Amino acid sequence: MWDFFQEIQLNDLRKRQSDVESATRGARFDRESVEHRLEKLELVCQSLYEILREKGGVSDEELRRKVREIDARDGSADQRMAPGPVTCPKCGAATTAGALNCPQCGATVAPKYPFAP
Ligand SMILES: [Zn+2]
Repeated sequence: MWDFFQEIQLNDLRKRQSDVESATRGARFDRESVEHRLEKLELVCQSLYEILREKGGVSDEELRRKVREIDARDGSADQRMAPGPVTCPKCGAATTAGALNCPQCGATVAPKYPFAP
């Protein structure tokens, strides 16, 4: 009888171990996918910046100054760009970040930044 319950517990533990291993593989895949996308984005940003610099339009100091300026717009210089609320162009109401329509009048609102989610 004891062996029967031990066998049930062992099978349950094996199943949990398999579930954890599967979740770990999924998380690793997700992390690698995000890292790949980030590296690609860094490459595109660097390429765009070098094109602008080579054409004489932007200096390294100008880029750094603009990065600091945009970083501070949300009130926190934390090297992040928070999208923040957007003001409705029709009625002036504040919308939540990421909202596509005004909660007051239903007008379409554009994200604060072109690349914001
Ligand atoms: Zn509105």
